[in-house]
This record gives sequence, structure tokens and C-alpha cells, in this order.
Amino acid sequence: MVEARGVVKSYAGIEVLKGVDLTVTRGEVTCLIGPSGSGKSTLLRCINHLEKHDAGELRVDGALVGYEARGHKLHELNDKQICAERAKIGMVFQRFNLFQHLTVLENVTVGQVKVKGSSDEAAKAMARKLLARVGLDDKEKNYPSQLSGGQQQRVAIARALAMEPKLMLFDEPTSALDPELVGDVLEVMKDLARSGMTMIVVTHEMNFAREVANTVYFLDSGVIEESGDPRSVLVNPTSVRLQSFLSKVL
Ligand code: ADP
Ligand code: MG
Repeated sequence: MVEARGVVKSYAGIEVLKGVDLTVTRGEVTCLIGPSGSGKSTLLRCINHLEKHDAGELRVDGALVGYEARGHKLHELNDKQICAERAKIGMVFQRFNLFQHLTVLENVTVGQVKVKGSSDEAAKAMARKLLARVGLDDKEKNYPSQLSGGQQQRVAIARALAMEPKLMLFDEPTSALDPELVGDVLEVMKDLARSGMTMIVVTHEMNFAREVANTVYFLDSGVIEESGDPRSVLVNPTSVRLQSFLSKVL
């Protein structure tokens, strides 16, 4: 589903991603761990067409991110094409980014109607099904400000799922939550993983990574230092940097 080969990204001449290789298989959960500033969010933003990488090859579902091949030449996608590609990828942020002036139900229907072209009725039916799935079917008339952080994050997940994405990206989805609210959000994510959704999750929740991830990548200073099965990467890390990182977060 995602194939990165030597992906490089710089900001103002400073390389933030220094040649990242990553492979995400369809239906699998990939956890991305690493210290603050290592480039985790930047990598997700490149995968999601929010940033353009400077070098290397990045493919999502076989297609080059930001380009299309016509004959033997690559052409940059225009804004409309980029938006269409982005709509196929769900993204959940640390700060839930819900539309504050819309109700919970409207938050989950608006993209379906405006981007996917669903009818009002179909959008509501889909939204109610998804709100039930994340345990919030009794909150559809509430506004985001009336919900806890954990509930808002579950609405954000339902909103992303309403677009029927083929890939879901999570950027530290539980980092802004009070500890007692983390569990419900992780449960929703585990349920999603069990349903076969392809997911890339940036997280500091090592238990989640150990239990749910098929593969863990450790990113440090823009380089993948180590990757593999969570049971080996998290339990018997070979890189000194990963050993040091784990000793701080565990
Ligand atoms: P992480 O998510 O692992 O904490 P980021 O991908 O957010 O790391 O950031 C990696 C590095 O890139 C940091 O040094 C950050 O300051 C820098 N960076 C991120 N976004 C921008 C930007 N839009 N402009 C300039 N520098 C940025
Ligand atoms: Mg980040």
C-alpha cells in the first residue's frame, strides 16, 4: 500500500528526512516510533500529499505521490488531482481538528456530501453506523466542545472512516489525551486493525505497538534506524539509539 525508497525532504536547506525506506503491506498495521523532531509527522505528511518530498520514490497503492506517468514522462499532479488522492487517505491528528461549529453528526457527514457527493440521507446513515462503531451513537447532536478529548478523537476517527479511505494515518492520536481516556481510543484503533484496515500509526504507546503492529519502524534524525517485528524491535533492539529511546519511554 505504501512504498518509500530513499525519500528525502528538506526545509530551508535542512534535511529532515534523509533517505527513508518504508514498506507498508495492505491490511497491516505499521507503527512509527522515534524521538520528537525525528521526522515522523513529516513522513506522514509526505505520504498524505500535504508535503512534497524532494527526492526518492514514494508510492501509495502503486501510484507515485504527486505525479502521474504519461508515456515515459512524469507529470506533476494539479491541486484538484492531489485533493482527490488525499481523499483516499484518512488522517487523524493529535489535536482532533473537528469543525467546532458543526455537530458530531455534521462533522461526519460534511465530507461525504461535499467531497464524495453522497446524498444527505446516505451520509447520515453512514455517519450513524460509524458513530455506533466508535461508541458515540448517543452524541450525534452534541458539539465538539461538549465532548471529552477521547470522545472528540473518536469522532475524528469516524469522520476519517466516512470517506472510506484505503489507508489511515494516525499522528500521535492519544498524546493530547488525559491518561484515562487513552484506552477507549486505542480500542477503536484495535477494532479497526482487526477489520483489516491498513494503518500507519505514529505513537508513543509501546504496548499498543507490541500488541497490534505487524511492523515497527524506529525513525531517528530522519533515518530509519531499525525496523521489524515488534517483538524483536521493541524487546531486543540492536541499535544503541533505539535502546536509549526505549529506556526513556518505557
Ligand atoms: P516529529 O513528528 O518526529 O516530532 P517533525 O516531522 O514534526 O518531527 O519535524 C522534523 C523536523 O522538521 C523538526 O526539526 C522540525 O522542526 C522540522 N519541521 C517540520 N515541519 C517544518 C516546516 N513546515 N518548516 C520548517 N521546519 C519544519
Ligand atoms: Mg510529530
